[in-house]
Amino acid sequence: AKKNPNEPEFLQAVMEVAETVIPFIEENKKYQNKMLLERMVESDRIIIFRVVWIDDIGKTQVNRGYRIQMNSAIGPYKGGIRFHPSVNLSILKFLAFEQTFKNSLTTLPMGGGKGGADFDPKGKSDNEVMRFCQAFMTELSKHIGSNTDVPAGDIGVGGREVGYMFGQYKRLRNEFTGVLTGKGISFGGSLVRPEATGYGNVYFANSMLVTKGDSFSGKTVVVSGSGNVAQYAVEKATQLGGKVVTMSDSAGYIYDADGIDATKLTYIMEIKNELRGRISDYLNKYPNAKYFAGKRPWEVKCDIALPCATQNELNQEEAKMLVANGCICVSEGANMPTTPEAVHVFQKAKLLFAPGKASNAGGVATSGLEMSQNSLRLSWSSEEVDERLKGIMLAIHASCVKYGTDQSGYVDYVKGANIAGFVKVADAMLAQGVV
Ligand code: NDP
Repeated sequence: AKKNPNEPEFLQAVMEVAETVIPFIEENKKYQNKMLLERMVESDRIIIFRVVWIDDIGKTQVNRGYRIQMNSAIGPYKGGIRFHPSVNLSILKFLAFEQTFKNSLTTLPMGGGKGGADFDPKGKSDNEVMRFCQAFMTELSKHIGSNTDVPAGDIGVGGREVGYMFGQYKRLRNEFTGVLTGKGISFGGSLVRPEATGYGNVYFANSMLVTKGDSFSGKTVVVSGSGNVAQYAVEKATQLGGKVVTMSDSAGYIYDADGIDATKLTYIMEIKNELRGRISDYLNKYPNAKYFAGKRPWEVKCDIALPCATQNELNQEEAKMLVANGCICVSEGANMPTTPEAVHVFQKAKLLFAPGKASNAGGVATSGLEMSQNSLRLSWSSEEVDERLKGIMLAIHASCVKYGTDQSGYVDYVKGANIAGFVKVADAMLAQGVV
């Protein structure tokens, strides 16, 4: 804490890993006295830079850009870029730290990184977003590369932004390489990448349910968020027979007792991805639904909860409400959406609880598959990518079970994910010497 003042999110992420990994190190001689965890919390390097651009009325705007290159023991740095006014060093360091463990779990060779800017894409014109992306990439391009550091999307960065950044990288470097993932299909993107995080989260939740002889069929599902991850979590949960009754954004949530089916989801995708509107606009077309301004959906009775918006969006009180309402499974689509106190509530009640670094790893895993396709200069079919994604989610589930099962048979997926992620990175660091 002394070394990282004013970084509560980073300390929270490190504490959560330390709680489970330190006892494991104490039991395993091989990992002792090597300062492995101490090395992992120190980024390889952090780049902070000025981003200057001109808005539509001709005014000069200044933002701050970041790239955290956290750990490259098992592969090039890999992790998304976030554009949101709340972006700061603490949030990006927590995300980069988590990313190192997550990428290790995917079974693919990717190190950990994260980046972004305190730029708010809301209310900006398409041209303003393009000029910002170009200004951001002008500096970032000096520090990344297809074998060095391969960024992707995150909050506020979707296909449009990745396209603008890729275009600028290509213009500056005069090379066409897989330097970003989440690209459009016509210029090296992978099929199923947009769907991968949301789908992967539902595949993971399903694997947890299967251990109890259960499934999504006939279950009531509560989802938060309405961005990339939430949209495809809703799609897959519905396909598997669940009834999704909520979605949200930073202003509030909608409740549709009849379920948000495929047709209604298409409308939400139009509102969010094309019109860039608010979730409350859902009521324009479906007036029977209800909108709760300024609230989060955890008060709604459900069997399965999928938090897919942002960090610390589900607190202890809300966790207690979910348990009291009979929820049996919580699977994180977002990164660290559940506060540590809330995680303890779920674990005490012996719920199936999946931490994001396991359950949302399908996105970066499919980014890894995009990198493979770019290197091969091939594109795989949707079926092939989806099959690989399913296989990876099953493998991550198996790793969590391996390292997280206690004597009573309860699987602590937090412990399992942390230890499994740690082991691979630690082994690589040991083999590479004191670096
Ligand atoms: P999007 O920008 O597409 O969507 C974000 C959603 O979360 C929006 O509905 C947004 O509402 C809401 N949200 C954002 N900030 C807040 C906030 N402070 N309070 C309440 N709601 C908020 O992002 P993604 O769907 O890509 O990302 C969502 C989460 O999933 C993040 O935690 C991200 O790190 C994580 N993730 C994403 C991956 C990916 O492949 N995209 C991969 C792995 C993890 P509003 O529109 O009002 O801002």
